[in-house]
Amino acid sequence: MATRLQGTGASDGLFMGPVRRLAGASTAERRAGTPDAEHQVLRHAITLAAAEVAGLMERVEGEAQDMLAFQLAMLEDDALSAPALAAIASGIGAHLAWVDALDGEIAGYEASEDDYFRARAADLRDIRDRVLRHVTGTADEAAVPGAVLVGEDIGPTAFLEADWSQGGAIALFRGSTTSHVAMLARARGIPMVVGLGEEGLAAAQTLIVDGGRGLVTAEPGAADEEAFRQDRAALEGQRQAAEQFRLKPALRRSGERIEVLVNVAGVEELAHIDPASCDGIGLMRSEFLFRDGAPLPGEDTQFRAYRAFLDWAGGRPVTIRTLDIGGDKPIRGLTPEGEQNPFLGLRGVRLTLAHEEVFRTQLKALARAAVHGPLKVMIPMVTVPGEIARTAALFEDCLAELTAAGTPAKIPPLGIMVEVPAVAVAPELFASAAFFSIGSNDLTQYVTAASRDDARVAALNDPAHPAVLRLIAAVARHGRETGTPVSLCGDMASEPRHVKALIAAGVTSLSVAPARIAAVKAAIAEL
Ligand code: PEP
Ligand code: MG
Repeated sequence: MATRLQGTGASDGLFMGPVRRLAGASTAERRAGTPDAEHQVLRHAITLAAAEVAGLMERVEGEAQDMLAFQLAMLEDDALSAPALAAIASGIGAHLAWVDALDGEIAGYEASEDDYFRARAADLRDIRDRVLRHVTGTADEAAVPGAVLVGEDIGPTAFLEADWSQGGAIALFRGSTTSHVAMLARARGIPMVVGLGEEGLAAAQTLIVDGGRGLVTAEPGAADEEAFRQDRAALEGQRQAAEQFRLKPALRRSGERIEVLVNVAGVEELAHIDPASCDGIGLMRSEFLFRDGAPLPGEDTQFRAYRAFLDWAGGRPVTIRTLDIGGDKPIRGLTPEGEQNPFLGLRGVRLTLAHEEVFRTQLKALARAAVHGPLKVMIPMVTVPGEIARTAALFEDCLAELTAAGTPAKIPPLGIMVEVPAVAVAPELFASAAFFSIGSNDLTQYVTAASRDDARVAALNDPAHPAVLRLIAAVARHGRETGTPVSLCGDMASEPRHVKALIAAGVTSLSVAPARIAAVKAAIAEL
């Protein structure tokens, strides 16, 4: 009989297929050899695992590559294998010694207060299982195409190695919507549901995964399969129908033009987006140029990146947001350690004003890029007007320095994110901002007091809450009355189901995820 399991959707889409269990760290049924032989076995397994990860690194780019670089560095670090090798010397088999040592490490990472280290626990599990497979010679079931991968959690390399050529899906007992894997799944369009618990999934053979609804059906009956086929045909129909809007301006039935811009994080994304499909870049999250654990990018590196966005946009406006780290985006050495409440702490402009040298490097790179196209600069997490004034003064100072050195530069229009409720409630205090861009992700979490990264309160973290919509409408009205441009760049703009409410609230400029351009334009055309 069919069983329905409700979890949390981490990536939209529908898929039905056979279950493939993610190879866990199985240590059963392996006989150990002499300590010398076991030492060799473990060393060889680690070498093979490192070679695999290095091979994978060549097939990916951006964040996925950084994540693999972290794993490779761990595998190449003797400190990781030392406890296992010591256990082998005392007579324990390589498989048990390795798992025991890694489980200890993983427990330490999982117990960390720090989001960064907790997120790395998945990487360590990945490393543990990859090496163990080489020790035990276990086949990797994730490589089977057209399957639903089921397990406690899935490591990012298992995702990258899985064969998605015939589609597939992911259903996890635990997992998180903000993990690296969730991000990879959304980018690849692989449906994913997390937080399903083990009970209903442990023995399942066939699953229907509905990422949009966060719903999984185990052992579907004929009626479930028929409903699945209908839903999937409807989704595919919607996708194809939306495609015709991709390269056209977004127009409502009334003929009113809605601006549709794109949100980007890295230069490597540009190759997959046609600039003709959007009205420019509404949000470039510059913090993704800063990699945790890597040296900070210098002025020239940043300048080249900012210029690449302007060149790609070919005269369309490009809004680059200054560094928005802190909260859920830590950078060791810059963001504070052990904050009680990082989302309410030193993040965004609060942090860059506290690290003036870092801020100045970025502002100089931006002032230099501004000469090469219609650049706008946006400040995140503004709470009081003084933060704009201080940023503007720093900008002036940087310009003076560049000009004195004979470097071409200019100050671009300086606007702000509206994501702290204080700004949305009293936008008139921020008359010095050249434009407003509503960050509905943070605005929603602060208005509803429901964290954006905690699946347990996901239902409360609702951008369509009347209180959030009322604030958005007030900001849009203030923009119209004062002639200040207002856009919205939170994830809400990328959801066709929210488009109607946003336009009813008076928002006429949306900045959306690249994968959602056509769908959002199609939703606008319906209005
Ligand atoms: C937002 O808060 O809505 C936003 C766009 O910024 P981020 O998601 O990067 O915090
Ligand atoms: Mg934000």
